[in-house]
Amino acid sequence: MSKEFTESELEAYLDEALSPDEMSAVESALRGNVELAQRLAMINGRRDAGVHSIGEIWRRHRISCPTREQLGSYLLEALDKEQTEYLRFHIEHVGCRFCRANLDDLKMQQEESSEAKISRRSKYFQSSAGYLGKK
Ligand SMILES: [Zn+2]
Repeated sequence: MSKEFTESELEAYLDEALSPDEMSAVESALRGNVELAQRLAMINGRRDAGVHSIGEIWRRHRISCPTREQLGSYLLEALDKEQTEYLRFHIEHVGCRFCRANLDDLKMQQEESSEAKISRRSKYFQSSAGYLGKK
């Protein structure tokens, strides 16, 4: 079984930014896979030559990742225009997996809490309706 690795996975491998499982998956795939080894060597060579895509630079400097609070505000559309643009670029164009995972997580939390709010509200409504009904 040979899995096809994407360019960004190989880059992450070079950065040692993959999970231990993924790291060892690449390592075992490398054994006896000349083509994969050549791809890795090419990526490495391109880096040495100083050719970096914007996405690669962003990914390599996780420092540019917004905070979880900023991601939350982004979801709520509570950021100013400049920050919104920055986050949209980071998430949609750079496709930062770290932030996407974070964002999915936050989205789920927000959905859950708004659902909880709705059910609380309807419960309140029902109980006060019942209360009024009794009167
Ligand atoms: Zn990020």
